[in-house]
Amino acid sequence: MTYTLRDACDLAEAVRYAEDIPATAICGAASTEKDRIKRYFTTSSLRISPQLTPELSIILTNTCNFLRLPKENVHAWVYPSAEIQAYCVGNDAQECFIRVSSGVVQLLNAKELAFVIGHEVGHFLLRHNSDSDIFSGSSLEDTMRSKSAEISADRLGLLACGDLEPAICAMLKTLSGLGGDHINLDIPAFLNELRSVSEIRTLDAEIWNTHPPLPLRVKALLWFSMGKTFASYTDGDVAGKMEKNALDQKVFNDMKSQLGDFTQQQFDQAEEEVQLWLSAVAVCRDGRLDKSEQQKLNTDLGLEATQKLISFLSMHSAEEIDAVLLEKLNSACENYQHLAPTRSRQVIPELINEVSSRFQQSDLRQFIRDKSHLLSEISVNIISSG
Ligand SMILES: [Zn+2]
Repeated sequence: MTYTLRDACDLAEAVRYAEDIPATAICGAASTEKDRIKRYFTTSSLRISPQLTPELSIILTNTCNFLRLPKENVHAWVYPSAEIQAYCVGNDAQECFIRVSSGVVQLLNAKELAFVIGHEVGHFLLRHNSDSDIFSGSSLEDTMRSKSAEISADRLGLLACGDLEPAICAMLKTLSGLGGDHINLDIPAFLNELRSVSEIRTLDAEIWNTHPPLPLRVKALLWFSMGKTFASYTDGDVAGKMEKNALDQKVFNDMKSQLGDFTQQQFDQAEEEVQLWLSAVAVCRDGRLDKSEQQKLNTDLGLEATQKLISFLSMHSAEEIDAVLLEKLNSACENYQHLAPTRSRQVIPELINEVSSRFQQSDLRQFIRDKSHLLSEISVNIISSG
């Protein structure tokens, strides 16, 4: 059967992890950009071809077949480096460009390599590169999305190699740099490693990492291998296997218990700050904070935050208060935008609506806009977009 790119994309979408939200814009790279990539890779690495690298070429062909992707859509190169690295570049919707280090090729056997190449092809099929921010890890939100993208790509890697064992072996080898002679594939023991550190509060560095910790990836792949989708793709026996949304939920719970709570706290705190300063702007417009306003603040923000706000206000004169509060609102918006660009765009206008109806100020947004010279461009954009 001959497959088209569409078949491969459909397969990839069928296994996409639920938290890996598809990019909205599908890009087509400019042909000059594609030429630049091809030229750079061809002059600095060896292209995988039936003539020069026959074994690797067979692995690449098999990977494409398993993922229902026409081989013409994939270009792959090997570059000389002891580092254990493979990546997919470009954001073209038609052509996939992959580069693998010689270190990876030497370390892995054929099935393990199929997992690694399948993973990279997975990023292409799922259009992860269309959203250039995801992998830059420029916001906390992006790093969470990037982690979810890795979970999806691992699933394509598993389909490409067809077996859980080489998939996990590839992960352990690339994590450690060790060859097969030194690794005993004891999966429960490896997952126990995760349990032994799960009591320790998540490190900031871990939150900002674009990849999930490896034991989480292994566990996510185990869940996927128990599902109907994988069974229907391999031996076809789906009896008693998990539905995709049930296994996605298991993965979500694992991710949350290891990483998610702390990330969520950061989002919540940033959102509360915006709400606090928005409320302050609203109540101080008439230059005074009366009893009923104080009560509303107590209910919305809590006693502690209200007290802090009151003491903050008491330090400033009536003339300067608008500017001071807008400056505070501005930095709260910027901070939230930095952590969660997508979410903040949606939430901040909602908060403005809530606060303006809470304090019966239908012109609150207009008031802030009129004072927009006191806000940064970012805040003006978010506030105006509601
Ligand atoms: Zn990846």
